[in-house]
Amino acid sequence: MNQMTRLEPAPSPMPDDDACWAAFLARDRAMDGRFVGCVATTGIYCKPSCAARHPKRENMTFLPDPVAARAAGYRACLRCHPDEIGRDRLAVAAAIAFIEATEEPLRLEALADHVGYAPHHFHRLFRRETGLTPAAYARGLRAERLKDALGQAGSVTAAIYEAGYNAPSRAYADAEKHLGMSLSAWKDGGRGVTIRWRTIDSSLGPVLVAATGKGLCRISFGEGEADLRVRFPHADFRPADTALDAMAQRVAALVENPAAGADLPVDVQGTAFQQAIWAALRAIPPGETRSYGDIAAAIGRPQAVRAAGTACGGNNLAVLIPCHRVLRSDGSAGGYAWGLDRKQALLAREKRK
Ligand SMILES: [Zn+2]
Repeated sequence: MNQMTRLEPAPSPMPDDDACWAAFLARDRAMDGRFVGCVATTGIYCKPSCAARHPKRENMTFLPDPVAARAAGYRACLRCHPDEIGRDRLAVAAAIAFIEATEEPLRLEALADHVGYAPHHFHRLFRRETGLTPAAYARGLRAERLKDALGQAGSVTAAIYEAGYNAPSRAYADAEKHLGMSLSAWKDGGRGVTIRWRTIDSSLGPVLVAATGKGLCRISFGEGEADLRVRFPHADFRPADTALDAMAQRVAALVENPAAGADLPVDVQGTAFQQAIWAALRAIPPGETRSYGDIAAAIGRPQAVRAAGTACGGNNLAVLIPCHRVLRSDGSAGGYAWGLDRKQALLAREKRK
């Protein structure tokens, strides 16, 4: 779903000997993991960035990886720990998976703890492997998710294939079946669409309620007109009319008592996969919760756990599409686009009933 750089387990093939030697002389970190240098006089092997004094060129041979070096009778250097490159890469890959499965910004400490590294060390490692800090990576990912939520061209097919569909037509057919929502064309930033909106007070703060002539297109906490204009830059905005006022009242009542549900018309744009996920969310009974894995399985795509999490994060209709009923697989609260406190408050209200 996102186009960000992926870590490949095995980068390009090993460079030639001259390039390897040059990498050692330059202590080039970018070459770590692509080969090791074996020193005949000491019997050890090093990664290119090793800080130890360089041996003479004629005493050094280059091999693709630590396995080959050990097979040739060399031992790992105790200074540069050449065997840890693979472990580091795995840790970074695991951290990326963790970031992608979590909707809210993660603290560095939590991330490092998740992969078993000290925070400061892990920060450097992550940056070395990806060129980005964990925070910058997460920001980029959220930007991608927002683009997805806005229905940018290109994301539809990617999302469908990521979700494991063989062909888009199949995905659309499934989505139609799961939905009960209009697959309204939200392309081009809402051009030609009239949106009426207002905010209404609730015990969890002001709620933005916006609707087209077909139904609700945005329910969110703490947003206003500026947010709507970012989301639908070409729409024609009008003040609330009596129909919208009535819907807003019912949305406010739903916030106070989410278990009651509300049969309100919706007009949300999203990829077929997102729409299927949102339909699955609406099927969770009040007072119950599901994991992202449950939701992915519910639409017949058990492998698409991460994409399911992303689609939950892209929900446009707070409370009405109850993404607050999805928790992490370990039962902890996970993320919520509108703040964990609100998520917990909504769940507590449902449990009381
Ligand atoms: Zn070394």
